[in-house]
Amino acid sequence: MRPYNFSADPSTMPEPVLRRIRDEFLDWQGTGCSILEASHRSPRVLALVKELEERVRSLLGVPDTHAVLFCQGGARLQFAMVPMNLLGAGTVASYIVTGTWSKSAETEAMRFARIQSAFAGNGTRTPSDEEIDVTAESSYLYYCDNETVHGVEFAGIPDSGAAGVPLVADMSSNFMSRPVDVSKFGLLYAAAQKNFGPAGLTVVVVRRDLLGLASPEVPTLLNYAVYEKTGSMPNTPAVFQLYCSNLMAAWIESEGGLAEMDARARERSRIVYEALDEHPDVYLQRVDRASRSRMNVVFHPAEEALTPVFLKEAHEAGLLNLAGHRTVGGLRASLYNAMPVSGAIALADFLHAFARRHP
Ligand code: PMP
Repeated sequence: MRPYNFSADPSTMPEPVLRRIRDEFLDWQGTGCSILEASHRSPRVLALVKELEERVRSLLGVPDTHAVLFCQGGARLQFAMVPMNLLGAGTVASYIVTGTWSKSAETEAMRFARIQSAFAGNGTRTPSDEEIDVTAESSYLYYCDNETVHGVEFAGIPDSGAAGVPLVADMSSNFMSRPVDVSKFGLLYAAAQKNFGPAGLTVVVVRRDLLGLASPEVPTLLNYAVYEKTGSMPNTPAVFQLYCSNLMAAWIESEGGLAEMDARARERSRIVYEALDEHPDVYLQRVDRASRSRMNVVFHPAEEALTPVFLKEAHEAGLLNLAGHRTVGGLRASLYNAMPVSGAIALADFLHAFARRHP
């Protein structure tokens, strides 16, 4: 049996997907060549990319009003591409900050726009709708649906009441983990390497009427409209990553789709939070209950010196990569789509045993 890998990213992938990659690695679809050797212009690869787009559309329920694009450069490149493409004639963009990644996106956007702070949080909670303040002159309202470092997740889609200001979301760490009403978004994006495959692919879903707002100075490969026109092939795409994410999408489909992914995510996180809550003197949590992430459970041993002990003993028990992000320390269990419920149970058992050993 493989150990349970709680890494925040890149992250655990379903074993059937890994086996399939292994089994057809030397000879993809009877071509005698590996997918690593396949031309992106070959009919088979073009069909693969089409299939992936169809799967994303059907799993997420993407309406015809929205394009599905495949980019590279990870999630962070989107921190720049979003303002470069969506500001249009405007000069102001609104940002909700709930943790590291929305803060980082806001800072990058300052290169291009005047930032209006719609909510400035401290990594412990999401705002209520009433707390979100957006000026009408804003070109878009940006937020991060799940803050991977702090373990803060929006329970639903925020409604700022600012009609006509497109909503933009970074869904990198909770993409494909629950159903989403895509029609509410101007744009949403996700780097694949948590819930949707290996690193190297970013999925962007954007309302078609927002394409073409980029000014002529925006570099060709940073312009969404170019990706839309070229079927996401303005240059050589990351074929292997597209192939892996297509297998991930097929796996999610075969397991029951996004409602099932959500049910499992709730179950896994409930099991781990309940274990932590039973030992409030041993494990500290800073996130408000209503904002607790289903994907990243962040906690600290009350006695900070126990962090390395916890990591060592967990590793010996087959529970890997539980260290918190380097900027916040402590511990973090990432519970993405590919983590079986049995992984959450094994972690909960370990949390109880560790608390008994180190009261
Ligand atoms: N946004 C979120 C929510 C993330 O979790 C991360 C990385 N873990 C990023 C952005 C940055 O992603 P990348 O390394 O792909 O640029």
